[in-house]
Amino acid sequence: MLLDNHGRKINYLRLAVTDRCNLRCFYCMPEEGLNWLSRKELMTYEEMLQTCSLLVKMGIEKIRITGGEPFVRKDIMRFLTAVSQLPGLNELTITTNGVLTASYVPELKKIGIKSVNLSLDTLDANRFFSITGRDEFANVMQTLHELLKHDIEVKINAVVMDGKNTDDIIPLVQLTKDLPVSVRFIEEMPFNGDGHVYGGLKWDYIRILDEIKNVYGNIQKIPDMAFSTSYNYQIPNHKGSIGVIAAYSRTFCGTCNRIRITPEGGLKTCLYDAGVLNIKDLIRNGTTDSELEETLLKAFNNRARDGWEAENLRVEHNGVHESMATIGG
Ligand code: SAM
Ligand code: SF4
Repeated sequence: MLLDNHGRKINYLRLAVTDRCNLRCFYCMPEEGLNWLSRKELMTYEEMLQTCSLLVKMGIEKIRITGGEPFVRKDIMRFLTAVSQLPGLNELTITTNGVLTASYVPELKKIGIKSVNLSLDTLDANRFFSITGRDEFANVMQTLHELLKHDIEVKINAVVMDGKNTDDIIPLVQLTKDLPVSVRFIEEMPFNGDGHVYGGLKWDYIRILDEIKNVYGNIQKIPDMAFSTSYNYQIPNHKGSIGVIAAYSRTFCGTCNRIRITPEGGLKTCLYDAGVLNIKDLIRNGTTDSELEETLLKAFNNRARDGWEAENLRVEHNGVHESMATIGG
């Protein structure tokens, strides 16, 4: 079992396979996009597979593929299939914006994907356009229905943004009445690729919950899974459930079981750190698997206590600037 220096189990890897994306969610990246990584800067599928395989041997049990948008990377199914076959891996999941995903759903089912996180901040096509800069609402909804049709568990991620989609909170809760989905409201974080100035958090998880309780006084707390980042609830007689994720308030650091790898191979042992080493560079410099294992163990043994400490340790002290697309969420 992998433990960090604070005694927390590490068994979950979030791997961002690209920084590129076919949407421009304003809270994630600027309209003009990012300074995209060149192909040489990206980890190759072979390098990512080697890394996943080693990490699974070391104790990682669950891998989430994210990005950028995973489905814009060429040949993504080839990679997903290979990861799904790693001996010892219990769970492979994906976070996607759903724009291109619908046609892949049968294949995802075939390789054993049981759960997908779908990002959807609004049920209104015009608001979708104003948040993402693209007219793709219908395709995302098609992905949602295709996933449900194939019995793949769906968690909807909705970032709550002051003045943008707070009118969507209740309609998104209503979606859980007839659909067996878990809608999770996420506090907005400052990872917007410097596209706009982060004005501080106006909608924290408590305010989001209060907004829901105002309409649904009968909301009930349901048990949270181990290592869950969300506080989970259900409205009686609704098929689905809801959750709130205190991503900015950082209430979940005490049980954090996750590490992240960025598209260029950066290892983050905390969402808020600036990256602690580069795996791609080590592999390309001829580091053997056992040397890499030793280096990784050292990094896990030097983890920040929480997101506040990790943020304070960053060299730049004028706030976090990177895009979430280079972190993977
Ligand atoms: N493109 C895919 C998608 O949107 O699902 C995967 C990558 S995206 C970076 C992963 C998650 O991060 C999404 O659910 C997105 O809403 C969330 N995210 C991006 N920027 C964020 C921010 N500034 N604050 C909170 N969540 C953010
Ligand atoms: Fe793309 Fe996901 Fe970022 Fe939106 S949140 S711009 S879909 S990477």
